[in-house]
Amino acid sequence: EAKAAGKNHVLALDESGQQRRDRRSKIRRELEASITDGRLFPAFQPQWDLQRNRLHGIELLARMSDPELGAVSPAEFIPLAEESGLIVKLGLWAVVEATQAAKALRARMPSWVREDLRISVNLSSVQLGSPTLVDDLNSAVRTAGGKPEWLRLELTESRQLAEASVIRQRLLNLRALGFTLAIDDFGVGYSSFSYLSSDFFDELKIDRSLLLAAMGSPTRAVVIGSIVAMAHRLGLDVVGEGAESEEQEDLYIAQGCSVIQGFHIARPMPLDSLLDWQGPK
Ligand code: C2E
Ligand code: MG
Ligand code: MG
Ligand code: MG
Repeated sequence: EAKAAGKNHVLALDESGQQRRDRRSKIRRELEASITDGRLFPAFQPQWDLQRNRLHGIELLARMSDPELGAVSPAEFIPLAEESGLIVKLGLWAVVEATQAAKALRARMPSWVREDLRISVNLSSVQLGSPTLVDDLNSAVRTAGGKPEWLRLELTESRQLAEASVIRQRLLNLRALGFTLAIDDFGVGYSSFSYLSSDFFDELKIDRSLLLAAMGSPTRAVVIGSIVAMAHRLGLDVVGEGAESEEQEDLYIAQGCSVIQGFHIARPMPLDSLLDWQGPK
């Protein structure tokens, strides 16, 4: 009987493994169509400067909602898009959406919109491998009626970023066009200080995992404080990611980081809500 139960257990695991594979291949199949038919849509999350009490920037985050699959997290569909190469098309979609949002914000000019406000778009390291990246991004922005000065590109740390000179040249070319660049998720994965002191980054975003580690650990809080101090001395803006409470915001502030992107400030929201957003309560 125990053997039979064990066998059933294995079958159940297999079944859910099969379900996972089915789901992944369905997402893979639906993703491309989603870009054009609206099942893929942008959400916008404000980055708020608590010291100056004003908006620092806004990050565009892709959202996928399918009638059968329901809401699919980018943590699930972005890796699939990277594997299939569809990330190149998705990345251009995001740039166009961000440009249109920037245009809508500027046309409306709420009091908190500054002339130098940028919308941040995530750039996959897979996209960095494309020789036409710079031209593609530039023409996507121009065709949408905007300027690279309206956007900031977020890159996660990677070995190729630190080591491949062809990729570094692409980044310099993007910057020469007017885009600014941010290092995303700093503190996890492949970290190198070599590109921190380089000329191409304007902003550093501290990963939420560093914040969580620092809660209740003074030595780990010192790590955040040191990163913030170093980044500021290098002339970089610093954004703290993922504060969900006032206590977590206070930790960032105590460590010198007063620009925060987190649920306690605001959750990612549709463009309509963003246009009415008045700042954190
Ligand atoms: P990311 O670029 O680090 O984006 C921040 C993520 O943290 C978002 O998750 C956001 O919803 C989440 N977040 C913000 N504040 C809080 C908080 O207070 N608590 C918690 N628990 N989470 C918070 P999301 O939207 O699920 O995106 C996950 C990742 O997917 C992004 O991480 C980014 O790497 C990737 N991604 C999303 N959209 C795109 C895209 O258009 N292109 C590319 N290449 N990647 C994207
Ligand atoms: Mg990001
Ligand atoms: Mg991030
Ligand atoms: Mg992150």
